Amino acid sequence: MILGSHVKMTADLYLEGSVKEALSYEANAMMIYTGAPQNTKRIPVERLHIQEAHQLMQEHGISPEHLIIHAPYIINPANSVKPEVAELAVEFLQMEIQRTKAIGSKYIVLHPGSYTTTDIETGIRTIISQLNSIRDIPDGIMICLETMAGKGSEVGYRFEQLAEIYEGLELKEHYAVCFDTCHTHDAGYDLTDLDSVLDEFDHYLGMDKMKVIHLNDSKNIRGARKDRHANLGQGMIGFDTLYNVCTHPRLEEIPKILETPYIDGKPPYKEEIEMLKNGV
Ligand code: FE
Ligand code: FE
Ligand code: ZN
Repeated sequence: MILGSHVKMTADLYLEGSVKEALSYEANAMMIYTGAPQNTKRIPVERLHIQEAHQLMQEHGISPEHLIIHAPYIINPANSVKPEVAELAVEFLQMEIQRTKAIGSKYIVLHPGSYTTTDIETGIRTIISQLNSIRDIPDGIMICLETMAGKGSEVGYRFEQLAEIYEGLELKEHYAVCFDTCHTHDAGYDLTDLDSVLDEFDHYLGMDKMKVIHLNDSKNIRGARKDRHANLGQGMIGFDTLYNVCTHPRLEEIPKILETPYIDGKPPYKEEIEMLKNGV
């Protein structure tokens, strides 16, 4: 099981602290934001304790491929109403891609964005042209477009939409997909029939494109398009279905990352990881 959670990256230890947090949950994977997800303030990579972090990962048998980056959600590559916002987003994403490389990570998860006041087709076209304007992606780095819940004007809540984006991308070898269980459930996919959902994913995108899984329960019923994460077994997806995602042979090699909410201000990840390891 390649299993972990979102972890913090804060002073003084930064990335080294992130790895320590993951280890305290007995995780062998983790995901970080390179700074606050709501803004673009970033600490220089020289101060992130990158070597120490990798040393620690190596000691505990954690592969650098299982250290995943999430781009901040202020980035909206689907915004064609305010081109200056989209341009800033792409500039910042360029920097995040370089930071992903410097951190020694491989996968950076990105929300495709929201089309705001236009329409889904315009949104898709805008995403394609924005991403195609990024020419400098280091070898081995992959941008993982996340399956969205379809809240508001979000793009990418159907596999067809992600496939359409992918088709338009020029540097295809640098793009993949992050499958979020809360989001796909909210978008209407029936995860209790996981094989059919995976067949559909395979049909539109190819299973080899799925590189990261976000494992979350959902506060809402299937198809609600709300995007409110719940703790494992506390939502409308339920533990058994999420356990099936976690242990399914077709998904074995893919790192699974919990983004479930804190409980009384405390991270629930140690307990939730244990639940998944024990199957109860
Ligand atoms: Fe996300
Ligand atoms: Fe997610
Ligand atoms: Zn979400």
